[in-house]
Amino acid sequence: MKNWFDGKILKNLDAGISVMSHTLHYGTGVFEGIRSYKTVTGYNVFRLEEHIDRLIRSAKSLRIQIPYTVRELCEAVHHVLKENHLSDAYIRPLVFLGEGNMGLDVGAPGKPNPVHVMISAWKWDSYFKNSALAGIHATISNYRRVFSDSTLVQAKANGHYLNSYCAHMAAKALGYDEALLMDADGFLAEASASNLFIVKNGTIYTPLLTSALAGITRDTVITLCREESYPVVESCITVKDVMSSDEIFLTGTACEVSPVISIDGLPVGTGIVGTITKMLSSRYQETVRNNHYKHLGHKKPSELKQSDRLITSTLI
Ligand code: PMP
Repeated sequence: MKNWFDGKILKNLDAGISVMSHTLHYGTGVFEGIRSYKTVTGYNVFRLEEHIDRLIRSAKSLRIQIPYTVRELCEAVHHVLKENHLSDAYIRPLVFLGEGNMGLDVGAPGKPNPVHVMISAWKWDSYFKNSALAGIHATISNYRRVFSDSTLVQAKANGHYLNSYCAHMAAKALGYDEALLMDADGFLAEASASNLFIVKNGTIYTPLLTSALAGITRDTVITLCREESYPVVESCITVKDVMSSDEIFLTGTACEVSPVISIDGLPVGTGIVGTITKMLSSRYQETVRNNHYKHLGHKKPSELKQSDRLITSTLI
């Protein structure tokens, strides 16, 4: 595997990084997860600019200045794919602080911590084994999602994944595939590394972004729902809502559209993958694999009419 590291392709995995790297000690880094899909004409890196834009925004919110432009990083992603002869791939850009100040004040005079950027890519077929077909079993975690009064939830920051890790590993230890996390107020926030959607009486609900990452897949799926004329409501979702929903699915770059067929052992709906989930999953695959996204009539927030906007309400 060849990686892009600080502007160069490394022929092996040894970037000569110090064990005193600030990010290794404190989690002070940001990253992205991007997928590339094989197409008839080559490959399509799905919504690459948006992922790189989120990487730069995540870094900025953590006061980390990435010394590359969106364009340079997009080119670097293509470079890594070509160097590794990959078309169907998962791509991982990572921004981290190297050796320098060992306290939290990375701006302190004397030993500024260098900002490093690494881009790697590998084949990663399915995040949840067989989930696209059969669905996964989830539990509602005892861990609460990181929330906006304690950290910058919209940053895809390395440190946040300790919260994800605790919830996910506790779920796995109990025999579940994944954990759903509540926010500080007891409303559902998201899963450990994906956004949550529930379907009830033909309407699709998803949590507000107060304690959830603004997922790029979430945004794509909302656009697909609009295309299919299904109403989407951003809402405060309670445990009761989850337990009485007809369908549940998770969205994320890695897990794509993953059906959830039971929560804490209780079947979701009839306990098999629901029809709306199935339809969205196949529309998502069609979109990413045929580079259809640009044709979906996706609008920038400033171009949305009131009728295009998500309805924000409380489900209860
Ligand atoms: N929430 C969290 C915590 C995540 O790690 C991810 C994966 N990046 C998502 C949601 C989904 O985001 P996206 O659709 O942009 O991959």
